[in-house]
Amino acid sequence: MYKLRTRLILLITGSTIFSIVLVSLITNITLFNKFNIYMMDEQESRIKELIQLIENSYSINNRWTQEAYNNIRLSPLMMEFDVTIKDVNGKIVFRHYMVQEMAEMHKNMMKEMGRSMGGMNPNNMMDHENGKYVTRSYTLTSNGKIIGTAQIGYIGPFLVTERAIEFTRGINSSIAYAAIISILVAIILGIQSSKVISEPILKIADAANSIRKGELNTKININNKVQELQVLSNSINHLARSLSEQEALRKRLTSDISHELRTPLTILQSHIEAISDGVWEPTPERLDVCKNEVMRLIKLVEQLRHLTDIENDDIKLNIEKFSMTELLNEIVDSFEYQIMSKGIKLKRQIKDNVFIEGDRDKVSQVIINIISNAVKYTDSGGFIRVELEEDMGHVYVSIQDSGIGIPKEDLPYIFERFYRSDKSRSRKTGGAGIGLTIAKTLVKAHKGDIAVESEEGKGTKFVVKLPKIYY
Ligand code: ADP
Repeated sequence: MYKLRTRLILLITGSTIFSIVLVSLITNITLFNKFNIYMMDEQESRIKELIQLIENSYSINNRWTQEAYNNIRLSPLMMEFDVTIKDVNGKIVFRHYMVQEMAEMHKNMMKEMGRSMGGMNPNNMMDHENGKYVTRSYTLTSNGKIIGTAQIGYIGPFLVTERAIEFTRGINSSIAYAAIISILVAIILGIQSSKVISEPILKIADAANSIRKGELNTKININNKVQELQVLSNSINHLARSLSEQEALRKRLTSDISHELRTPLTILQSHIEAISDGVWEPTPERLDVCKNEVMRLIKLVEQLRHLTDIENDDIKLNIEKFSMTELLNEIVDSFEYQIMSKGIKLKRQIKDNVFIEGDRDKVSQVIINIISNAVKYTDSGGFIRVELEEDMGHVYVSIQDSGIGIPKEDLPYIFERFYRSDKSRSRKTGGAGIGLTIAKTLVKAHKGDIAVESEEGKGTKFVVKLPKIYY
């Protein structure tokens, strides 16, 4: 396993070295190519010059004479060539060998050049004649007449001067300097960029560890312009926040459930104790209180079971087309007496002929849960308004009350299981905080939604939105 810094340094240095090697390779190849072409041309023209010299020497007397041979032999060109001249009959009339030192010098030069290219052998890349001994035959003519042949032997192009070699050496050493500087820069860049990336990552890892240890208030503040790292730290912050919300909720749930269970059990205990101690007569009223508390416990356990059923399984819906208008009117009718007797005003604005596809019983349960809350949390003198609206694809059932309202801080949680605002908890009426959880689950099963608006002390409005067609 590498550290990020090592990885980055290796990566940047590696690519720098690669580019430098590539640049030096291309430069050298191009340079040597150019040199070689130049050398080949130069040699060709020297050979031409030599042939010219031989032919000119012949034309002094228009035949092969000692004078002609001397003329040829005296030329400085001869140092570099082996020359054999045959006359028209194929008889050797002249023979000359190149200067031995010349051949030696040439060989050394070629070696030098190879070394200056970093061990590359120019023979492999260029012309096959380069640096090798070559013989070529030329037909000699004078005044349009063939006068014989000349066999010329020479060693590849050998015009590489010391200066040319110096030049390539210079270029290669500049490249080497550039390489050293670039590698240093690459290392610095690697360290720098790894800092930019690895520091925030370590910070985030630290934060994640603190969260793991239960410090849910941890918040990461990184000052980094790398977008991905920002996203990562935001997600971790979000995670910490939602974990701490869940944690708060869990604590609240546990205390809520124990509270819900304790109240009826304490009442039962005190009543039964008083009766068995003979302090109280077991009057029908007192027995009724006990019975009611037992009923309350049974209802609570029932609701809990119902809730787990709903949450565990896929809810089985019994889909049919039914009149939402009729259903809503039936439900409101059934609450009418209770509402009136509590001194609450009932307002209905239920649109006629609204039909939807859905599970009639489940939809009915949703609305009953919401209306019974409205009745529970609204006092005498208030109102409850039930409305039914529709648009192209949906129906909207809205249930508004002028009751106690829901505090802002409780609003996000009212659909959670067992959640009850402190205000509602202090009221005698009230269930276990499951009604809305069930309602929401059932609406979701219909691919609908429940929205809530509420203001503490003013009232609450729930809007249930259901698709007309079940899909
Ligand atoms: P409960 O059985 O306690 O009513 P619900 O799940 O039906 O449980 O509701 C959860 C909580 O939401 C209630 O305890 C109450 O605090 C709040 N709530 C629901 N409906 C209303 C309403 N119409 N007015 C005020 N508070 C409400």
